Amino acid sequence: MIVAFVGTAGSGKTTLTAAFGRYLKENGHSVAYANLDTGVRKLPYRPDVDVRRDVTAWELMEEGYGPNGAIVESYDRLLPKVSAYLTEILKLEDERDYVLLDTPGQMETFLFHEFGVRLMENLPEPLTVYLFSPDILRKPEDFCFVRFFGLMIELRLGTTTVPAMSKVDTVERLEDYRKYLDDLDYLNSRLRLEPSMQGLLAHRMCSVLPELAPPTRILYVSARTGEGFDDLETLSYEHYCNCGDLT
Ligand code: GDP
Ligand code: MG
Repeated sequence: MIVAFVGTAGSGKTTLTAAFGRYLKENGHSVAYANLDTGVRKLPYRPDVDVRRDVTAWELMEEGYGPNGAIVESYDRLLPKVSAYLTEILKLEDERDYVLLDTPGQMETFLFHEFGVRLMENLPEPLTVYLFSPDILRKPEDFCFVRFFGLMIELRLGTTTVPAMSKVDTVERLEDYRKYLDDLDYLNSRLRLEPSMQGLLAHRMCSVLPELAPPTRILYVSARTGEGFDDLETLSYEHYCNCGDLT
């Protein structure tokens, strides 16, 4: 099983990769980790595959690149090696129960660079977990936005994508989030009351979500407390043996 964690910088991908890997191991599974972030300094897990052995963003910054240029250049340099990485990841997938992919800090690096897209397109049925942090959810439109973003990732990477709210240990009332994210009818009824142009747009976009979005449940996880790990494990397993039906 290959599970890739994708999300904006700071959404908790690296922490979750380490914590979920530890959880799987404690439950008797064998786990491999792949770090695909050229910009990370320290990792809370020991990677079996690590793009930093070929290139790091900071060595490119020493060559004179700025922080963004260094990141882009690092993936330009990795691109000719994408087949070698694929081979390595596939070999690990053969040997272990789970291969966890920790993707670049900045999500756009993975979604917009050919390295990320080629890698994901050529892996056998990986499950993508789209992580978003609760602090980006402030108004009803934001909930519509994250549901759509999950779909956009699915479209771009060509992989089944499950939205997952991270850091649930930091929210006081999880039900307040769940009622919007789990129940599209409820979300839509709230959006209908939004008078702004953005509210109207969100309402119209969200009305088509039930038709467009594959029936999947939303995950709620905390790398700090392990909440939701059982759900993530179940869902990964269902995806693996059943490909597609994640309701
Ligand atoms: P990444 O950029 O997506 O890889 O995010 P990181 O894993 O580096 O996490 C960014 C920050 O969020 C760090 O300070 C983590 O300690 C914190 N963090 C990650 N997961 C959790 C979580 O489940 N709960 C809390 N409270 N903080 C978290
Ligand atoms: Mg990271």
